[in-house]
Amino acid sequence: MTKTPSLRTRLSHLGRPGHHIHGLVNPPVHRGSTVLYPDVATRDAHRGQVFKRTLTYGLEGNHTHMALEDVVAAIEGGQHAVIVPTGLAAITTPLIAYLKAGDHVLLPDSFYGAGREFSDDMLPRMGVACSYYRPSAPVAEVEALILPNTRVLYLESPGSYTFEMQDVPALTALAKRRGLVSMLDNTWGILAFQPFEHGVDVSIQALTKYVSGHSDVMLGAVIVNTEADWHIVRETALLLGMYASPDDCWLALRGARTMALRLERQLASAIEVAEWLAARPEVQEVRFPALPGSAGHEIWKRDFTGGASLFGVVFQPGYRTAAVNAMVDSLELFGIGASWGGYESLALPVGTSLTRSFGSTYPQGEAVRFHVGLEDPADLIADLDQAMQKLSANTLG
Ligand SMILES: *Cc1c(COP(=O)(O)O)cnc(C)c1O
Repeated sequence: MTKTPSLRTRLSHLGRPGHHIHGLVNPPVHRGSTVLYPDVATRDAHRGQVFKRTLTYGLEGNHTHMALEDVVAAIEGGQHAVIVPTGLAAITTPLIAYLKAGDHVLLPDSFYGAGREFSDDMLPRMGVACSYYRPSAPVAEVEALILPNTRVLYLESPGSYTFEMQDVPALTALAKRRGLVSMLDNTWGILAFQPFEHGVDVSIQALTKYVSGHSDVMLGAVIVNTEADWHIVRETALLLGMYASPDDCWLALRGARTMALRLERQLASAIEVAEWLAARPEVQEVRFPALPGSAGHEIWKRDFTGGASLFGVVFQPGYRTAAVNAMVDSLELFGIGASWGGYESLALPVGTSLTRSFGSTYPQGEAVRFHVGLEDPADLIADLDQAMQKLSANTLG
């Protein structure tokens, strides 16, 4: 073949064993702790060769992990991926890897909640100072917050729950100019945003979401684009004892085969549902960067080729918490729960789960985060319609 096939095509072929495993299409699940050798000399020769993918212990992962590493690295357009047990571990591992006592890290105010708790609780105990910046702040405002000991500029675009888009190329250019390591949580932008083409040093993925895609696996990945970064992240993951179940890796590998199709369908359905919601009188704002007219849409149009089926809806300020919660309770096709990226739709009141140093960027009013799954969007809209009619009756009656 003269031209490199597109990623869509490669997602059907990457990480497969070829003809080696009895000709079967999929790689097997390898489970193992002990790795045996024929003699001591061979074992000695293999020790410390983890970067050549020569393994001496289960902790280093095996061919099941490597197959997933290759697929995730290709999805993100990076050279190497390090698989870790959760998306949260994909946040904490590089922060620990690149920061040391005396350093300072700049974090966006829209930072994923559990990552924020880790940074506020654990990093100070390690002697690392954290401070927050407004996620949509102009570059000059972020630059003014850089201290002599700042080492990492962390990004998440769009932000958790409130979906602020960040100008990633401008912020990574700032990081480069000031000698900072830039990290981006690219979970929402999987397949739609190429982090390394936009200057990111370390990309973070919660594979729990669309890669796994079926709400039955927790897994994360740290993706890098240089050998030096790979060594830094991989060595830290090993020192921390980060190990993912091979069965989970295998399920994520299976999920990756259909991810492009699912994402495309779910995004199209989400736009349909979001447009319907935006036209409702009960709704004050729909925050969905992929939706024309939404805050952040201009940056989305410039930098993204698609996106996640996850967005926020802010209701008119007249609707009280109990009424909006009752509306969510009355939905029949939307589950109530955390996480997203599965095949099923979810609705989650934002409630008190926002921790923000600068206050929420949402206008005043109750907010609900929606995840749109693979259901027929007409059915989802019909379900929302009956729930919204109840909401109106609740407050107006
Ligand atoms: C869910 C999520 C994570 C964490 O993933 P887990 O696998 O649940 O630990 C990290 N970042 C973002 C943006 C997420 O939505």
